Amino acid sequence: MLIDNHNREINYLRLAVTDRCNLRCNYCMPSEGINFAKNDKLLTIEELIQVGSILVEQGIDKIRITGGEPFVRKDVMVLMRALTKMEGLEDISITTNATLIGSHIYELKALGIKNINVSLDSINKETFERITRRKQFETVHNNLIRLITEGFNVRINFIVLDGQNEQDILPIIEVMKHYNVSVRFLEEMPFNGGSKNFTSIKWNYKAILEHIAQAYPDYQKLESPKTSTSINYKIPGHQGTFGIIPSFSRTFCGSCNRLRVTATGDVVTCLYGKPKVNLRDIIREADGEENVKSAILNAIGNRAKTGFDAQQEHSTTVFDSSMTSIGG
Ligand code: SAM
Ligand code: SF4
Repeated sequence: MLIDNHNREINYLRLAVTDRCNLRCNYCMPSEGINFAKNDKLLTIEELIQVGSILVEQGIDKIRITGGEPFVRKDVMVLMRALTKMEGLEDISITTNATLIGSHIYELKALGIKNINVSLDSINKETFERITRRKQFETVHNNLIRLITEGFNVRINFIVLDGQNEQDILPIIEVMKHYNVSVRFLEEMPFNGGSKNFTSIKWNYKAILEHIAQAYPDYQKLESPKTSTSINYKIPGHQGTFGIIPSFSRTFCGSCNRLRVTATGDVVTCLYGKPKVNLRDIIREADGEENVKSAILNAIGNRAKTGFDAQQEHSTTVFDSSMTSIGG
């Protein structure tokens, strides 16, 4: 079991498999001039499997595959197949923009992978294409519906962006009321590759909930697992649920059970902090596995208590990095 220096059990790994993406969401990365990692700086699929396996042995029982866009990586299914064979790994999930998942849906289902988070920040084609800077709305919409009808446990991630998509908050709830999905509204965080910086947001979790409550005053709060980052609600008569994730307000740090490994092997113990160690060079040396194990224990033994504390690790700004390298 992995226990951090604040007595929190760490059992959840978010593993980024690439920093590249076929979309350019304006809250995540700039439209151009991005310094993607060179191929030899990325963990190979074999190294990703090795890192996953070491961490599962150490006590991780849930792995979420993220990126960049995971399906941009051609060999990602090799990793997925290997993960499903790892004893002790109870939950394998994916966060995706759903542009490229179509041809993998049947195999994912056959592998028993159930939990898929789809990022969808608008149900309006023009707004979607303005935010993502690419023309992929129909593909994403079709794949989303396929995932739902194939029986995956689908959650939609919708980042509420001031002046860009707030007009879609209520319509997305309305459209999704016929489906068994959870629509989660996330506060925007200033990880966008440096194109903008901010210290406060208009659409914090309270503002999002108040906005929804005006249209659906009889919403009900649901019980959520202790480590959940979302506060979840149900609207009577709706098949699915909705949730709000205070990613910028950071009210959930006390029960944080997460560890992140980026596509280049950086170990990130808090989104708002600095990487603690890089596993790539360690794993490529003799005695790699043993040294990776102790590097992870060391990182977990030195975690900041909250995202606000972690932010202090940066001498200037934490917000020059992009979510595409950290994995969300
Ligand atoms: N490409 C995949 C996707 O978009 O789902 C996976 C990677 S993406 C970096 C992971 C998650 O981070 C997505 O749900 C995305 O919406 C979220 N994200 C990216 N930039 C963000 C930001 N500045 N604030 C809040 N969430 C962000
Ligand atoms: Fe790509 Fe996901 Fe970032 Fe959008 S949020 S640019 S889909 S990595």
